[in-house]
Amino acid sequence: MPDLPPENHARILRNLDDVRARIAAATARSGRPPEAVSLVAVTKKAPVEMVRPLLEAGASILGENYPQELWKKSEALAGESPAPRWHLIGHLQSNKARRTLPLVEMVHAVDSLRLLEAIRELAPGLSRMPRVCLQVNTSNEEAKHGWSPSGILEEADAIAACRAVPIVGLMTMAAWGTDAKTARPSFVRLRETRDRLRERTGLDLPELSMGMSGDFETAIEEGATLVRVGSALFEGVER
Ligand SMILES: *Cc1c(COP(=O)(O)O)cnc(C)c1O
Repeated sequence: MPDLPPENHARILRNLDDVRARIAAATARSGRPPEAVSLVAVTKKAPVEMVRPLLEAGASILGENYPQELWKKSEALAGESPAPRWHLIGHLQSNKARRTLPLVEMVHAVDSLRLLEAIRELAPGLSRMPRVCLQVNTSNEEAKHGWSPSGILEEADAIAACRAVPIVGLMTMAAWGTDAKTARPSFVRLRETRDRLRERTGLDLPELSMGMSGDFETAIEEGATLVRVGSALFEGVER
C-alpha cells in the first residue's frame, strides 16, 4: 500500500479542522449543545490511506455508500485505533443485508417498507443489529430513493409494526444542484415529517441525517443530528 504524501495528510487534517469548526459554529448559532451534531466522514472512493488521518484525528464515524466497498474497507481498517464506526449511507439491496448489517452501527437509507421488513426478518439471526434511519425523498426528484413525505405517513402503522428494528430517525438528500440556501425547504420538510411520524407511531425518532458538504450548516440550523460530509474533507488532495 502506497504511503500518503505528507502534504495530503496535512491537507486532510486541515480540512477536517475546518469542517469541525463550521459544524461547531452552526450548532452554536442554532442554540444547540455541541454534542447535538455528529460528523459522519464520508469515505466513499477514498483509499484507506486517506481514511487513516481522519481516524487518527478522532473522526471515527465513517460513511460508505456501497456495501462491497464497506466490506473491503472494514477489513482493511479492522486493526486501527480508534476503531472505525461504520455507517452505511447508500442504498442497501436485501441480498447484501445479512452480510452488511453486523458490520455497521447505522444504516441511514432504509428506503422502503419491503427493505425494513427484510431487515426485521433477519434480526433474530444477527450478531449485531444496527440502528436505522428511514429515507424520505423531500425534493420530489424521480431519481431519489425513499418514501415521499405523505407516503411514509400512510405506512406509519406498518413501520410501527417493525419496531423490533431500532428505527431511530429519518434521512434525506437535498435536490441535485441546490446550494446551502435552496436546500433549506428539504430539511424543514424532513423535520416536519419526523414530527408527524413520531406522533403516529409513538417512535422517538431523535435522529435527522441531513446535510452534505454543500449544505451541512443549513441542515444543522434545521435540526440535523448527523451530517454526512465527504468532498469537503478531501478538497485539494490529489488522488
Ligand atoms: C456522497 C454522499 C455524501 C457526501 O457528499 P459530499 O457532497 O461529498 O459531502 C453524503 N450522503 C450521501 C448519501 C452520499 O452519497
